[in-house]
Amino acid sequence: MDFLEMLKTPEAISTLIIIASAGMFITLERFFPYSKDHKFLRNGFFNDLVMYTLFQSYVLAFAINFLIKWMDDTSGLSRLQLVSDWPVWAQLVFFTILHDFYIYWFHRWQHRSKYLWRMHEAHHSVTAVDWLAGSRSHSFEILVNQTVEFAPIVLLGAAPEVALYKGVIDAVLGMYIHANIDVKSGPLVYIINGPEQHRWHHAIEIKSGGINYGTKLAIWDTMFGTLVLPKEKPKGYGITDPYPLSDSNAPILAQFWQDFLNYFKQQAYIFRPMKQTQEA
Ligand SMILES: [Zn+2]
Ligand SMILES: [Zn+2]
Repeated sequence: MDFLEMLKTPEAISTLIIIASAGMFITLERFFPYSKDHKFLRNGFFNDLVMYTLFQSYVLAFAINFLIKWMDDTSGLSRLQLVSDWPVWAQLVFFTILHDFYIYWFHRWQHRSKYLWRMHEAHHSVTAVDWLAGSRSHSFEILVNQTVEFAPIVLLGAAPEVALYKGVIDAVLGMYIHANIDVKSGPLVYIINGPEQHRWHHAIEIKSGGINYGTKLAIWDTMFGTLVLPKEKPKGYGITDPYPLSDSNAPILAQFWQDFLNYFKQQAYIFRPMKQTQEA
């Protein structure tokens, strides 16, 4: 297959859509910033882009594929082809809503249980929320959430492209809801998630982020009474507890090196003695 042919594969098109969306969000952040003092090369940039987005995703994709293949081999479920007759768009809508409902409740539980908070605090440790911030999630959290997300798609016999399209939706929406863009979505704020809701989820003044748990649809927060939209903007982002983060005052290359080491410290930090946990 030559290079031009390769660019036409669904995998290449999906990757291009994600890169183009990142470019669009970065541009919109420049022209319509939510927090005016935000820097593109902010604290944890290398941590999030290289260690979480590239390295961790690559490694976990193997682990999650292996796990789901094992589930299928032992259960033989995908042979039943339970959703195979549905149109691809219906499969995509079904699995997106199903997983979004799960993630709302699991996310809410992570904020209420001190044990599950351990898996989630990496995500809340970002002190500058932007298009890239959503990528910082502990490997255990991704392992659980993506297995729950992709196992039903495989086991119920969905079309192979459904998993790929779902991955694109996750990546684009993940960048959007964290983006440092001053979006005003009007009545849509009760239906679709965006920076208006999710940046407040990361606000430092909300202890353990106890509001706006949705990731794609805001209907769950609207329905279950957890949607909160303060008029003002948050004073800052992150958690008040100590966490392995690079030193914002160090030169940027020194921060990149610290980010590299901090990735491994953050993975291990989940195992520290329980008494040091922030109260969830
Ligand atoms: Zn987030
Ligand atoms: Zn959260």
